[in-house]
Amino acid sequence: MHLQSNVDLTLANTLRLPCNAEHYAAPSTLSALRAVLAHAHAQGWPVTLLGGGSNVLLPEQLPGLVLRPALNQWWLNHGQVAQQGDVFAHVGAGVNWHRFVMATAARRLWGVENLALIPGSCGAAPVQNIGAYGVELADTLQAVQVMELGTGHCYWLSAQACAFSYRDSIFKGELADSVVITQLVMRLSRVPAPQLHYGDLAARLSATPTPLEVADAVCAIRREKLPDPEVLANAGSFFKNPLVSNEQAAQLLRYYPAMPHFPQGEGQTKLAAGWLIDQCGLKGMQQGAFGVHQHQALVLVHFGGGDRRGLMKTADFIVAQVEERFGVKLEPEPRVVNP
Ligand SMILES: Cc1cc2nc3c(=O)[nH]c(=O)nc-3n(C[C@H](O)[C@H](O)[C@H](O)COP(=O)(O)OP(=O)(O)OC[C@H]3O[C@@H](n4cnc5c(N)ncnc54)[C@H](O)[C@@H]3O)c2cc1C
Repeated sequence: MHLQSNVDLTLANTLRLPCNAEHYAAPSTLSALRAVLAHAHAQGWPVTLLGGGSNVLLPEQLPGLVLRPALNQWWLNHGQVAQQGDVFAHVGAGVNWHRFVMATAARRLWGVENLALIPGSCGAAPVQNIGAYGVELADTLQAVQVMELGTGHCYWLSAQACAFSYRDSIFKGELADSVVITQLVMRLSRVPAPQLHYGDLAARLSATPTPLEVADAVCAIRREKLPDPEVLANAGSFFKNPLVSNEQAAQLLRYYPAMPHFPQGEGQTKLAAGWLIDQCGLKGMQQGAFGVHQHQALVLVHFGGGDRRGLMKTADFIVAQVEERFGVKLEPEPRVVNP
């Protein structure tokens, strides 16, 4: 068991928030993971799970154990065919999501090509049911293997049992902080099924693109629109797109007829958080070490030298401005990790 103490996680989170972990381990097998969990349990250490650190707001000190599963294998199971053309991919939690997407797209497999260039690990992907360009993880995920933090016991959850919805799953609710995701099973397909209805994807591609061409187009659009965390620290979309009642949306539309709105059924309408922030004149604003990206109002950026307290101050200011103007309360998308 390889345990490190007093580990600086500043470069292990894409917002570059300063954070020091009391203990840190990155086990690469299930038995090593079980052993380190048993040790943490025996020591009475709290356990914090970390993947690529692209969707977390870390505190300055993290007591106990920070655990980053390094289960880095993935393979295709051609034998397990449920339907003509289906191929099942088994993916370890430590595999980099974008690399997995590009590798399957290069093998002409359909299913996750629209989710290219989302940072982070495969193990974290089900936590918020990652989504982009009209596709969500839940569309192709078949099952998730988890290990209980308290007992080391492993079991499988079907996609249905994961209770996926918009940026949400059982891993943020009932199972939050009690299991570590160790493996995903994804159902991909050899049958062409391009999803090009979102944004200007269709305009950039032929009528019969390959999965790799779609993934490359998604990457190109994302590079044009989103700041690269390696260049300017950020966590992607900082706020979730808010859901409001149809009545509230209709009332707002009377004053703001150009407001983007997306009816969701069940009496709810989704609004675009970035548009609401932009309308408050906050795009490009800077407050100390943090600010709103100059081209993308949904992305908060860290210019350096700040900490989580400073970031939350800026976020609270934005939330208050939007609430005052539109009566809509924005919620952060990244997970606030507390000691
Ligand atoms: C530039 C940029 C663009 C982004 N674009 C998108 C986008 O288009 N769509 C989208 O949905 N998201 C997007 N994100 C958010 C982020 O990439 C995803 O949420 C991603 O899945 C997080 O993965 P991670 O490994 O970095 O997780 P982390 O940030 O390390 O962790 C996120 C949460 O998952 C938990 N966790 C991590 N690993 C495990 C595990 N093995 N088992 C159980 N829990 C675990 C952590 O405890 C934490 O609560 C973007 C982020 C950035 C920086």
